[in-house]
Amino acid sequence: MTTVLTPVLSRHWADPQGWTLAAYRSQGGYRALPKALRMNPDEVIATVKDSGLRGRGGAGFPTGMKWGFIPQGPGPDGTTKPHYLVVNADESEPGTCKDMPLMLATPHTLVEGVIIAAYAIRASHAFIYVRGEVVTVLRRLQAAVQQAYAAGYVGRNIQGSGFDLEIIVHAGAGAYICGEETALLDSLEGRRGQPRLRPPFPAVAGLYACPTVVNNVESIASVPSIIANGVDWFRSFGTEKSPGFTLYSLSGHVTRPGQYEAPLGITLRELLRYAGGIRTGHTLKFWTPGGSSTPIFTDAHLDVALDYEGVSAAGSMLGTKALQIFDDTTCVVRAVLRWTEFYAHESCGKCTPCREGTYWLVQLLRRLENGQGDDTDLDKLADIADNINGKSFCALGDGAASPIFSSLKYFREEYAEHIRLGACPFDPARSTVWA
Ligand code: NAD
Ligand code: SF4
Repeated sequence: MTTVLTPVLSRHWADPQGWTLAAYRSQGGYRALPKALRMNPDEVIATVKDSGLRGRGGAGFPTGMKWGFIPQGPGPDGTTKPHYLVVNADESEPGTCKDMPLMLATPHTLVEGVIIAAYAIRASHAFIYVRGEVVTVLRRLQAAVQQAYAAGYVGRNIQGSGFDLEIIVHAGAGAYICGEETALLDSLEGRRGQPRLRPPFPAVAGLYACPTVVNNVESIASVPSIIANGVDWFRSFGTEKSPGFTLYSLSGHVTRPGQYEAPLGITLRELLRYAGGIRTGHTLKFWTPGGSSTPIFTDAHLDVALDYEGVSAAGSMLGTKALQIFDDTTCVVRAVLRWTEFYAHESCGKCTPCREGTYWLVQLLRRLENGQGDDTDLDKLADIADNINGKSFCALGDGAASPIFSSLKYFREEYAEHIRLGACPFDPARSTVWA
């Protein structure tokens, strides 16, 4: 389900034929491409820079700046390396479900964005790394790319511009860590996906050690509208530092879960109005602003501006804008246990703090949730999380520590109650999220 507050990215999601080339063209699609091809690649980069578009995969890094990092001309050894564009379509953060519906409903928005972005960074090959388990999305994307080839939008001498581009849709094998950009590159190269040391960042040494831009699906899909409508139009949405519109995924105990496209800076209170509020008869207990890797919020944060600055100032991160909503029937210890089991399962094992730490967090949380914990366990929990946070090789470790710290901060008493009662104070059967 989609409710459109800023009708751009999700405008045609309700159209069952919206994924076809004919429908996309009839809705104004592929009009930004000729405009971009008439511009100099550097002008395209400057436009995206001026728009203030920030990466929609979680970190919010300025997209145009990232494109501008790609070195032009020969390197210190006198050779010019090829450039690559890689789209991170491996969306796996718990609660995040915005890129998959976008690619399913209107894949040509992404394909047009890919062509423009590749032109801007002077890449002749672009890869879309998509979660292989989501076969319907994979097939639809492959079909859209084939349609774009047949129509002359991809391939040799695109629209007589002299620009050549090949697009390869690559199916990942379902590892959360392959959404980390350097693990994704290893996986694309045919190796086991494990994060690489950064720096060098992919912009300097990425795919096959060549300069590579890695961008999220939503970031790239936003580009055609920016080229078509201009910087001022894009900046008329959102805030000065977080301009534009974005896709928020609402899930859990809301009346109408789904994707809500809205200007950056909207609050959960406002979004809940469109989503029909918390399910009848219940109240908001806690929520994630950006997926389970971001510190949780409570009902005290309903008016936090959901933009990069607002959420950070309130002590969390905007992340993937996955708003997982939990009402008063949810045991916070159980919710955190489920997330932690996920991180322990998905830990790639490369570094000790994450590999060992997530295992021990799960052991402690299981004990606590079953009412078998003791008074020393809460400090142990915080201590283990502290030994993961900032000491792991990649962001997965920090993400695993986030819900531990924030749940202890807001709900320490609920943990303690499990110890006092020797049981979970909640009847798990009442929770529909974790049932
Ligand atoms: P990061 O801040 O380290 O990097 C963000 C981007 O900017 C990267 O592409 C990086 O290469 C680039 N960058 C940063 N500094 C640079 C520099 N000096 N020079 C060149 N490029 C530079 O963040 P990250 O570790 O890549 O990603 C973490 C984020 O991923 C988290 O915020 C989390 O929300 C998100 N995440 C998303 C998903 C998902 O399913 N979409 C899953 C897990 C995590
Ligand atoms: Fe692998 Fe976890 Fe270390 Fe990341 S933090 S490299 S996922 S073990």
